[in-house]
Amino acid sequence: MWMDWDDPDELRKLADALEEPMKETVFKSARGPVRGTAEEIVGRLGSPEMGGSYFTMSDENNYCIWMLLKKCHERGWIYKGEDVMPWCPRCGTALSEHEIVTEGYKELTHLSLYVEFPLRNREGSLLIWTTTPWTLTSNVAVAVHPDLTYVKVRFNDKVYYVAKGALQRVFPKGGYEILEELKGRDMEGWSYEGPYDHLEAPKKAGAPEAHRVILWKEVVETEGTGLVHIAPGCGREDLQLGREYGLPIIAPLDEMGVFLKGFGWLSGMHVYDTAEPIAEDLKKRGLLFRSEWYTHRYPVCWRCGSELVFRLVEEWFIRMGEKLNKPFEELTPEEKERNLRYQIMESAMQVRWIPEFGLARELDWLRNMEDWMISKKRYWGLALPIWECPKCGWFTVIGSKEELREKAVEGWEIFEGHSPHRPYIDAVKIRCERCGALASRIPDVGNPWLDAGIVAFSTLQYRHNREYWRRWFPADFITECFIGQFRNWFYAMLAMSTILERTTPFKVCLGHGLVLDEQGREMHKSWGNVIWFDEAVERMGADVMRWIYCRTKPEDDVRFGYGIAEEVKRRFFIPLLNLHNFFSIYANLDKWTPDQRAERLSLLDRWILSRLNRLVKVVTQALDDYDAYTASREIERFVDELSKWYVRRSRRRFWKSEADEDKRAAYSTLYTCLKTLLLLLAPFTPFITEALYQRLVRRAEPDAPE
Ligand SMILES: [Zn+2]
Ligand SMILES: [Zn+2]
Repeated sequence: MWMDWDDPDELRKLADALEEPMKETVFKSARGPVRGTAEEIVGRLGSPEMGGSYFTMSDENNYCIWMLLKKCHERGWIYKGEDVMPWCPRCGTALSEHEIVTEGYKELTHLSLYVEFPLRNREGSLLIWTTTPWTLTSNVAVAVHPDLTYVKVRFNDKVYYVAKGALQRVFPKGGYEILEELKGRDMEGWSYEGPYDHLEAPKKAGAPEAHRVILWKEVVETEGTGLVHIAPGCGREDLQLGREYGLPIIAPLDEMGVFLKGFGWLSGMHVYDTAEPIAEDLKKRGLLFRSEWYTHRYPVCWRCGSELVFRLVEEWFIRMGEKLNKPFEELTPEEKERNLRYQIMESAMQVRWIPEFGLARELDWLRNMEDWMISKKRYWGLALPIWECPKCGWFTVIGSKEELREKAVEGWEIFEGHSPHRPYIDAVKIRCERCGALASRIPDVGNPWLDAGIVAFSTLQYRHNREYWRRWFPADFITECFIGQFRNWFYAMLAMSTILERTTPFKVCLGHGLVLDEQGREMHKSWGNVIWFDEAVERMGADVMRWIYCRTKPEDDVRFGYGIAEEVKRRFFIPLLNLHNFFSIYANLDKWTPDQRAERLSLLDRWILSRLNRLVKVVTQALDDYDAYTASREIERFVDELSKWYVRRSRRRFWKSEADEDKRAAYSTLYTCLKTLLLLLAPFTPFITEALYQRLVRRAEPDAPE
């Protein structure tokens, strides 16, 4: 019914029309002409009258997400938070926890520094170690483990404090003298001079007065010096500690990773360029104990590969609720009601996960995930429908275009006729309900996983036609590569459906592994081992490709390449073709037709027919159960039996000259096997089965369905 936008000419026409977005234009559609400005028509893509495909920028998609966020707001789940987020200075955006857990860390070498923090009112220095020298500008505290043993040592006429277990690493050549042993807890509260206390920004934040030793159970002596430099504006755990101890927070970088004003000679420098100058500077001032190149796994941007920094940002979140320290079965209905994470877990439990470990992975993610960051510092994308008062901080979430029209006190006429995107949407102002000032939309756009998660509602007319929606919801089946999706797409769909309907949007979720090369390595353009789809189809054929996928357990990675394709051809496709050739040659010679049946079948005939019947049953069951792996394995086994046993042991029956009952039985049996096999195989390898069906079945039975 729906007009589909696969027609490139129609899409091109629309793209051209967008040159003048406000000009009226007419498009043909399944339900008659659609009239509107080009921009309006883009906003209607994916709606029933404008193509069945799904477009994240469509108005329906956007307003569905507005509706969802409004619902969250009514539950008190939307809030603006400060958090230290992994940040890509090149893309100028925070990465959500989801994106960083999923995608890459890289093996990188950084300049690491051992730095002296001179103690106040006490002899000697604390010795700390860092792989991110730029964070020293924002140092506020030093953490030690309360129960670890620390030592005061003399080395080259200077006095240092380090963990006893770190001595070997810090002084690899020895030459130190232990003056005293003490526990970490004995050092709590000691005050010290920070390396950048003379700069304006740390001074303004109150860092110099705050510098002290704090206790932290995560400190280890197997890395660094056993004393950890803490910069609450530059690290997640640092921020948590900072909050616990009421420490000042210093955030030194702007969106592009450039040092802000107030950091002296560093201001205006890019964070990537600061490690060596900082080492140089500390050395000049006698604070650098030692520097060394250090190789470690470091997070990088999944989009552009740049090294991430950790940056304090204001973002918007959906509250996931408490992490209660008890098993799911012991949660009270009230606790589930209060905490979104447990409601989503309930939805996840309604799903059949293939492979089964999917459920455990999804639940594990839900049990431990932090609040869901839904904002992104970008210009274009889903305009988050949050209006905030600049005077008093009040905010509200708007749930629909109609609600916005009612509340608008300014700018509606500018927005009218546009899709809910920047810049027009930002013209609309509403009245702060607390202080009466004009509230504006926040500049943030939505995290893309909001777009991906809403499909079960936005594509099924949830807002306008509940009956239609109910007919299709939930989906019977979804599938994706499971790497990462427990935190992304699977998660987002479950979360959004739980918020709106408190149920799962899909019944079965099949997660599959990756496609690797024949040696089991990932394919990378730069490694030269990528095989492009078009080339593979050309060289090995689509059916062979399909069979390779079907013959791999979904949870395993697929090994893919031309050598494997040859092997699959040799093992399966060639025997299959040989069977057909064998049958065709002799049946043609003997002018056998399917109506020439036999009264009596031999034992071998009955055996292979019983194998065939079993195969039909097993394959049907397996496919009903989304199990292409078992089905294809059984088909291979049958082809093997048919060629190695049945045909090999029946050859003489086809070869003999008299056209007797026994020969008719053999033809009839083999024909039944081959025809049934083609029907069974059609969903797996549609091209070869179609060709063979036309050649074998349609020739023998002209009345057979085309
Ligand atoms: Zn990036
Ligand atoms: Zn206000």
